[in-house]
Amino acid sequence: MADAKLIDGKGFAAGLRQRVALGVGEIMGKDLPRPGLATVLVGGDPASQVYVKSKAKTAAELGMASFDHRLPEETTEAELLALIARLNADPTIDGILVQLPLPRHIDTAKVLLAVDPAKDVDGFHPLNVGRLASIAPGAPLDFSVPCTPLGVSMLLADVLGSLSGRHAVIVGRSNLVGRPAAQLLLRADCTVTITHSRTRDLPGLCREADILVVAIGKPDFVRGDWIKPGAAVVDVGINRVPGADGKSRLVGDVAFDEALKVAGHLTPVPGGVGPMTVACLMFNTLQAARRRAGLTSAAA
Ligand code: NDP
Repeated sequence: MADAKLIDGKGFAAGLRQRVALGVGEIMGKDLPRPGLATVLVGGDPASQVYVKSKAKTAAELGMASFDHRLPEETTEAELLALIARLNADPTIDGILVQLPLPRHIDTAKVLLAVDPAKDVDGFHPLNVGRLASIAPGAPLDFSVPCTPLGVSMLLADVLGSLSGRHAVIVGRSNLVGRPAAQLLLRADCTVTITHSRTRDLPGLCREADILVVAIGKPDFVRGDWIKPGAAVVDVGINRVPGADGKSRLVGDVAFDEALKVAGHLTPVPGGVGPMTVACLMFNTLQAARRRAGLTSAAA
């Protein structure tokens, strides 16, 4: 059997960013306000700093207004909530991204609840979570959904076309990836099985998958012989492991070399799902701006 076709998330994300830039230009051409994204980072976590910087930079590159709010670690919950209230009321801002995790003295649920659902471009507000959980099959996404699973569903639709009737097995049930991925695939008429750390016979269930989405955070966990020949495998995992040269390298949750021999389509790590997350954040921000301007939002 031929090796799996690699799913080019990097290339798809570049195309999506280009479409977002065109969409921003279209809004500007109508003399409407420039779409704006506010990023909020509390504390100095190095990984979070890198993520926030890349999000703010990408927004600016695509022609959006970008507002970067860096707050010290000792910021109180009340101060953060006051900033969010200001951003909610600010007409120049379409999207608010609060970088997680927040310091322990701040109640994350309270903060996510405080973001205006119309500006919740991460799709974490309980109203948007509920909208996704209760969406009808095939209904338009006229609200923001979490960026990484949105990217997963876009990549699958791109390589497979219709997903209707396919059996999707999701490994991982986090609110960030697994659950919303399952709901998006259900909306696309897949038959969905959600699995987690207490699942019995995980390899057996994975072998039944036409589509296998893995998001657990364990390097090379899913083996080649867990994969149905020809299946589409989307590896969301990002794990840093020691490389042969002494430097660290990134690997996914799926044993790549083994999966390559069995799967029909496979995302590499890096260069698969990873680049889709920021691109989808930009897409969500553009959609929020379009909705605010009363323009029809393009279907995801
Ligand atoms: P979480 O730690 O929040 O969730 C992990 C999930 O995996 C849980 O549901 C857990 O089950 C399940 N799990 C853990 N061990 C096993 C096991 N042995 N068998 C079956 N299920 C298991 O992680 P996230 O969802 O936030 O992230 C998952 C991975 O995706 C990470 O590597 C992360 O870095 C990556 N990621 C990548 C992104 C990107 O942009 N590409 C964005 C977000 C995440 P249980 O609920 O039972 O504990």
